[in-house]
Amino acid sequence: MPKATETLLEINLNALDNNYKYLTSKIKPGTKVLAVVKAFAYGSDSVVIAKELVELGVDYFAVAYANEGETLRNAKIETPILVLHTLPVNFEVIVNRCLEPSIYSRKTLEEFIAFSEEKKQINYPIHLKFNTGLNRLGFVENDIPFIAEMLSKTKSVKVKSAFSHLAASEDLKLKEFTLGQIEMFQKISEELIAKIGYKPFLHCANTSGIINYPEAHFDMVRTGIGLYGFGNDKEENKHLKPVGTLKTVISQIHKVENGESVGYNRGFIAEKATRSATLPIGHADGIPRSYGKGKGWVTINGKKAHILGNVCMDMIMVDVTDIDCEEGDEVIVFGPSTTAEELSAAINSISYELITAVSQRVKRVICRN
Ligand SMILES: *Cc1c(COP(=O)(O)O)cnc(C)c1O
Repeated sequence: MPKATETLLEINLNALDNNYKYLTSKIKPGTKVLAVVKAFAYGSDSVVIAKELVELGVDYFAVAYANEGETLRNAKIETPILVLHTLPVNFEVIVNRCLEPSIYSRKTLEEFIAFSEEKKQINYPIHLKFNTGLNRLGFVENDIPFIAEMLSKTKSVKVKSAFSHLAASEDLKLKEFTLGQIEMFQKISEELIAKIGYKPFLHCANTSGIINYPEAHFDMVRTGIGLYGFGNDKEENKHLKPVGTLKTVISQIHKVENGESVGYNRGFIAEKATRSATLPIGHADGIPRSYGKGKGWVTINGKKAHILGNVCMDMIMVDVTDIDCEEGDEVIVFGPSTTAEELSAAINSISYELITAVSQRVKRVICRN
């Protein structure tokens, strides 16, 4: 790649290929793979990522909201797409674009069946989500008779899969809890199959579930963060490559004398002669204010430059007192060397939050490094 001359997010498709192959090497042949491409494919570009995954042979996509699935359909992606967070207001888009809703409550089931009947659908694919401990979305075991009763009275929908979501698959201190979730999911699925009289496919593992719980792979696994290069584990990260590299450039360098300040509200006051570099990236681009006042850093010519004072909307100023650099030099925010996991840890956050925050203002550049 040529050096960055503005703020951009490089999306490395070779890293995606590597991560897909590594993660799928962990599952039994025949297990389906669902790629989670919600939130712009974790802050990258959902269409670019999905097209590459189609080439790699992915079986399914998941998005959080219907409009994200619509974006994929507009890009001519024909792979089945699961909408994880179905809202009744989105039923129309879901059915018009052949998206497959997660149905997680009595209300969503009743309303989706009514909608499908009105639209004269036969066997419209739905996915039943069960709550096994995350307490976020999902039916509970007690809902099964109700579900079976509703399904027996209609031909408009058909259960394509039943699934659950693990609350702590990355945290081995909570292994007992996770094994309990897996067991509960197994029991619920058996009961569901017995009551509805056919076998939908089953899934409950996210990336860390793929890595830590082979017994939770069932018929399909759902991977998000792993595809983008993070395994929530030091050893696993060695096999994965970050897909996104966020780069920017030095716009201007200032000499700041002892006692002078930098940025809004005099967020940094120099206690010695300091050299600051102003970069065209701010909180509107995905660098939260909490990285200000030295918590966060960027890399310039291989050296760490900490953020001086407050993060502005469109800029940050960083300390380059001890760095040999000039205006126009490339700056790395995160990527394979300073990873998003490492940088986010500086503000007690996680890779997921930092990479999904890269705003739509930031130019995306595709590469194969
Ligand atoms: C986001 C999400 C995933 C992906 O999780 P990762 O930890 O990124 O692999 C899987 N399943 C559901 C239900 C999700 O919401």
